[in-house]
Amino acid sequence: MGLDADLHWNLLDNGSWFGLVLLHQDENGRWTSAVEGTFRFSLLLSDVPREILSDTAKQTLDPLQRRPLSSSDANRFPWQSGTQMQYGVLGVHDNGFSSVVSGWKAVDFLSDGNTGAGHAPNWLLAAIAGSIGYVCNDGTSIAIRIGDLFYTHLLYNGNLYSGKYFSEGEEIGQLKPGSFSNSCGYASQGSNWFHVHWGFPNTGSFHVEGWTLSLSDGKWRRGGETRGTLSWFQAGGTSPPSCPTSGGVILYWNAGYNCSNDKGNSGFVQVNVVVELVSREGIVVAVAAGPTATVVSVFEKLD
Ligand SMILES: [Zn+2]
Repeated sequence: MGLDADLHWNLLDNGSWFGLVLLHQDENGRWTSAVEGTFRFSLLLSDVPREILSDTAKQTLDPLQRRPLSSSDANRFPWQSGTQMQYGVLGVHDNGFSSVVSGWKAVDFLSDGNTGAGHAPNWLLAAIAGSIGYVCNDGTSIAIRIGDLFYTHLLYNGNLYSGKYFSEGEEIGQLKPGSFSNSCGYASQGSNWFHVHWGFPNTGSFHVEGWTLSLSDGKWRRGGETRGTLSWFQAGGTSPPSCPTSGGVILYWNAGYNCSNDKGNSGFVQVNVVVELVSREGIVVAVAAGPTATVVSVFEKLD
């Protein structure tokens, strides 16, 4: 597609990705094939022995069985819990690979591997469970798609092949440090720095770990907090520091003292002076003394 007169071309700009093709040879030596997304593909896929592809892997490889996402989502940041990576200066930018996925966006997350400073070590983790559906390998670095996420700038390892299933949080591989450039991606960074170019469909926003990324202004928001480029983000935080943990009674949006939400409010309600018991004619009234006194419960007094 779109070839120049000089016939210089590359797979990314001029090729088109039509999806996985399954080939099957029957007892008579005849080959049949099916392209992903067709009913025939689902049939052939179901015939693949479990030792080669698990049921879960089959399900995530088959577009007819895959759960459609209404908005872009990941369950976790793709690096080790309790460590941080830095949101890249480009903010929201194009994912590329337009012959594979159309109109996708991406963000960069960087680290220098300085775990002493709390920075993430060089291990990329699966942000959501799924099977590899596409691999770009130019001999310099690797890019892969797993479901509705793209991970670009990996170093080669033997697990990076189509059909390989990763559970959530499982190690995918290491990222390529330093500067490089080839057809599956390029980076300009210090020799000890590495980053993932993390892509997702352009649905207006992207959600992960309680954060909402606006694809229009490139800002991350959680509760009352807003973060832009060059901010560091910690993975696997179940109790974000912005959630209070002392002072009266606190109602959190989520279980586990977690006030993250994407509703644009603080995600918690705090009542400073808790409860007064008022007894009137055999009835005990519990009053929470916040900004305005509110009757929260009425009990029958036990004699
Ligand atoms: Zn990038």
